[in-house]
Amino acid sequence: RKLGIALVGLGKYSEGQLAPALEETNLCKLAGIVTGSPEKAEKWKKKYDIPAKNAYNYQTFDQIADNPDIDIIYVVLPNSLHAEYVIRAAKAGKHVICEKPLATSAADAQKMIDACKKAGVKFSVGYRLHFEPYNREIMRLGQQKVYGPVKKIYAQNGQKEGYDTPWRLDKKLAGGGPLPDVGVYCIQGAIYTKGEVPIAVSAKYHPKTDLKKFKEVEEGMDFQLHFADGAIAECRTSYNDEYNLLRGETDQGWFELSPAYAYEGQKGQTKEGKLDFEKVNQQARQMDAFADCVLNNKETTVPGEMGLRDVQLLEAIYRAADTGQKVSTKDVIQNAFDP
Ligand code: NAD
Repeated sequence: RKLGIALVGLGKYSEGQLAPALEETNLCKLAGIVTGSPEKAEKWKKKYDIPAKNAYNYQTFDQIADNPDIDIIYVVLPNSLHAEYVIRAAKAGKHVICEKPLATSAADAQKMIDACKKAGVKFSVGYRLHFEPYNREIMRLGQQKVYGPVKKIYAQNGQKEGYDTPWRLDKKLAGGGPLPDVGVYCIQGAIYTKGEVPIAVSAKYHPKTDLKKFKEVEEGMDFQLHFADGAIAECRTSYNDEYNLLRGETDQGWFELSPAYAYEGQKGQTKEGKLDFEKVNQQARQMDAFADCVLNNKETTVPGEMGLRDVQLLEAIYRAADTGQKVSTKDVIQNAFDP
């Protein structure tokens, strides 16, 4: 049988990406929903043929423990709510996937990891690009030093349209502005291109052009990840500009993706020419890979620890931007997980 996934939070990402992806998965399927909206529950039950007993709200959520149809709980809520629902999911004895950024503090992320360990359930962060062929090729080119060691990386992710949902501009709910939301892809991209975790970070906020909209969170930021061998990743993120780039440069060559972080339509080239890979549904692959881990007791390649590491880096980057100082990650990252 296919493993049953329950989506928690039926917002834009669940509706637009995850539910459609779950119609293309081989090892898992959409079996349940958790929503605060009775109207959404009705709509989803009809559309996806979900039995009433598999539809929960945030009050009845914990009863999911008794539901054998649900094997995996996928938390797709605003960022600061991830911790509570991952911990409740673990206590219910279910395996868990949680959207990025894993949490709004490293302390929360650690609690989530601990809860999953204690419950003996598997825990993954929703890093879909690890299952996308163009990004996988960048990992290969960079990590296997196909053109030699990467010396310079450019990672830019800016999103202007559709990123003004109120919670995204609310510091408490989002944990920050574009940095944790879309800038986290630059951190990810830089690390999986270099194949190493940076030893220090530096950062500078973009000046705010809309003080009302960006009252609580940054509008944009430039930040640098410094690697042990002197390589530098120049990263840029914004809610007020559109860019989407991941590029690696070595002494003998270069490779890049643009767009790099999109749901589909990646385009890439190297000094040798255009990259050409099959079109895939990233989220379907991501969820099937996790289902395979659950079914065959394997370790996920995108574990909670990787999400924690990136939250620790986000905190270091904010500290660098707030102080204007370069911040060492030595005392920040307790859990330097493989790229
Ligand atoms: P969204 O605003 O469209 O959906 C959030 C959902 O949470 C809504 O259905 C809302 O009703 C519900 N919710 C429950 N409690 C809430 C509260 N107290 N305040 C506000 N909303 C509440 O957001 P989204 O774009 O679907 O993002 C959800 C999560 O998914 C975020 O963590 C985001 O970073 C992540 N995400 C990941 C990707 C990706 O590519 N991996 C893409 C988009 C979003």
